[in-house]
Amino acid sequence: MDKTAEKVLALAEKYRSATAENLARLVKLKSTSGKEQEVAAELQRQMREARFDSVRLDGLGSVHGRVGHGKRLLAIDAHIDTVDQGNLENWSEEPFSGRIRDGFVHGRGSVDQKGGAAAMVTAGRILKELGLPNELSVLFTGTVMEEDCDGLCWKYIIEEEKIRPEMVISTEPTALGIYRGQRGRMEMQVSFKGLSAHGSAPERGKNAIYMGAHACLEIEKLNEHLHHDDFLGKGSITVSEFVSGSPSLCAVADFARIHLDRRLTVGETKETALAEVRALVAGQPASVEVLAYREKAYTGKEYGMEKYYPTWTVERNHPAVTRAEGVFRQLFNKEARVDKWTFSTNGIAITGIHGIPCIGFGPGDEVMAHAPNEKIAIDDLVKASAFYALYALNMK
Ligand SMILES: [Zn+2]
Repeated sequence: MDKTAEKVLALAEKYRSATAENLARLVKLKSTSGKEQEVAAELQRQMREARFDSVRLDGLGSVHGRVGHGKRLLAIDAHIDTVDQGNLENWSEEPFSGRIRDGFVHGRGSVDQKGGAAAMVTAGRILKELGLPNELSVLFTGTVMEEDCDGLCWKYIIEEEKIRPEMVISTEPTALGIYRGQRGRMEMQVSFKGLSAHGSAPERGKNAIYMGAHACLEIEKLNEHLHHDDFLGKGSITVSEFVSGSPSLCAVADFARIHLDRRLTVGETKETALAEVRALVAGQPASVEVLAYREKAYTGKEYGMEKYYPTWTVERNHPAVTRAEGVFRQLFNKEARVDKWTFSTNGIAITGIHGIPCIGFGPGDEVMAHAPNEKIAIDDLVKASAFYALYALNMK
């Protein structure tokens, strides 16, 4: 093993329990989307303790910790919000315990994805000790509101904070594989305008529920014929809600609306997905729209975006990916698994909207994400912290 990889691994090992304890502290602070204030404060404290060169909050309340003063910028991202606990009966212990036991840290957010946050803080600590290449800075971001609107925090960083790193490593769980893409998604709704009439004489009206019901069955068929990509798999569409309205329960319904969850594979865009649905309802009194997200961050700042989260991939032989494979080989003396996420990440804004290469490498298995009895192996945290540090050192 080369000398640098050896030093990095030794330091990651030295900080094993500090990393696990930092994660336990983050898990204990419940932080659903838009309520990340306390966990953001704790993450800043951990970055200061690790002697980062600067630590601050942006307008949305995401944490920005920097190591180094160079012009080239590598960003490493962990979102610090989590989903709620769900049904308590499915948990064998308290969801926010942050308990360290049997080589694991337990609790909601340990895998998705405060584990990544704790590992990257240790990476920053290692880089402070070993020193970065002069021309490089590393920005460690603890981002907010991801579970509610993936990518929004990074849209803000790029468009409002005017920060454009040359590439980003997402620390979302990959079970220590190197990920280079995900399917995109979008949320659409179709509204049908009917004509009400007395329920005793339905032939006088136009029932919007029937229009919506026909469209639902067409959408079920459409799902079978969507585009397939060898790497990301097939696009999909499903109806996730049906709402209707009528002047009375003794009247023909004059309104119906369906909500569509569309997953997009390579080659499918907002335009193609909209056109498919518009074609299904052509000639009917129906309107199709892409929904918008708009919420207040815990800082009070209101921000939003269209609910279109573009598909993204980074080429298999892109330097961001091959460098990651080299780092993995140096540290662990074997070949990395290169794959993709099933779920959606901040990559939709970083690469999908803004074309900045993003790769994933994270501790923990994505199957544990949003599941009860979530827990993460401390070994994964140690390996991930070594990986991030060596990745930065290999940016030369
Ligand atoms: Zn996540």
